[in-house]
Amino acid sequence: MKIISINAGSSSLKFSLFDMKDEHVIASGLFERIGIEGSNYTIKFNGEKITQEIELSTHVDAVNILLDKLTDLNIISSLDEIDGVGHRIVQGKDLFQESVIVTDEVMEKLEEIKGFAPLHNPANMLGIEAFRKVLPNVPMVAVFDTAFHQTMDKTTYLYPVPYSWYEDYGVRKYGAHGTSHRYITETVKKILGREAFRLISCHIGNGGSITAIKDGVCVDTSMGFTPLAGIMMGTRSGDIDPSVIPYVMEKEGKNASEVIDDLNKRSGLFGMSEYSSDMRDIVEQCDMQNEKCLVARQKYVRRIVDYIAQYYVLLGGADVIVFTAGVGENSVPVRREICEKLACLGVKIDLDLNNQRGEITKISTEDSSIAVYIIPTDEELMIARDTLHLIHR
Ligand code: ADP
Repeated sequence: MKIISINAGSSSLKFSLFDMKDEHVIASGLFERIGIEGSNYTIKFNGEKITQEIELSTHVDAVNILLDKLTDLNIISSLDEIDGVGHRIVQGKDLFQESVIVTDEVMEKLEEIKGFAPLHNPANMLGIEAFRKVLPNVPMVAVFDTAFHQTMDKTTYLYPVPYSWYEDYGVRKYGAHGTSHRYITETVKKILGREAFRLISCHIGNGGSITAIKDGVCVDTSMGFTPLAGIMMGTRSGDIDPSVIPYVMEKEGKNASEVIDDLNKRSGLFGMSEYSSDMRDIVEQCDMQNEKCLVARQKYVRRIVDYIAQYYVLLGGADVIVFTAGVGENSVPVRREICEKLACLGVKIDLDLNNQRGEITKISTEDSSIAVYIIPTDEELMIARDTLHLIHR
């Protein structure tokens, strides 16, 4: 059983080809600058890496070349070996509570809601359309970043704003990174060997979100109507007072979307440090006593701790805290600082174990009140698993 997992952006297409017998990646790669000058692709397989500049006018071109290469390079012997293709979709609104097989009806619904994630959903749809054109007989599955969060209750997902905004325009919390938080939940289930546990999953990469999970089900998450809400991120502000927006619009002569763009792309670590959105750079600068970087890093940690504390209370305690994604999997000092601030809850980590990176590791001590793990996330595998599951069903 071979499944391709796809993450399509407006000018890119990322893929992983899995052999689902043992869930290993046979090949992976990226097509970049689709429709732009200088388009190219990279394919990794068998420890080799092939890169080529090639004209890619559309996503269909990228898919055609991808499939040609998979056979030319003998990664698969024929296209018949591909049993299904899973596609990441950023926003499924409340129309999609779980992954689905793509049909014309699903495509119509996606068309209906694409305005809710104008930068992402139309691009994700381009990927599906390209594969449907090139592989019309292979089942396609849509996997939604929002689906895992559909179990939040009304008190959680509604904002305290005029009710008609929700009824008329769909204004509510949808969350994101659901596929990652679901992968973490499944992994914790396997590690603990039980279904009932209170989990706080911290996906902290360039984007970041924290999710509270009870018995396998999401009860709250830090991202909101869009991924701009919640914790401080690489370039996103996370939660702020919305009154800042019209104030800055007036001061800088900008319109609302320009200020939202500042909050999405020029805030967070990048905005506060005036140096970098990358935690590695920030940590390096902190070692040199760069004042803005020091404050940015403290704020970043503080925001995460605030959410963990909030979810600890919401869940009535916690059994497990997981760190995942770029910063969560790799940053030894950030994990340490977060856990130090949780000492009042009885969290204790082993500083040697905390030096681990990139593999499943329990970093808490035996007498810690909450087990703390590093678990590398794998959204591509989750997409492939859903695809396999749905095509079997
Ligand atoms: P995305 O949200 O784009 O998927 P990732 O999960 O790949 O992002 O995380 C990328 C971020 O992870 C980088 O911007 C960087 O801040 C952080 N990161 C990666 N490696 C390290 C490291 N060794 N130490 C600290 N931070 C790291």
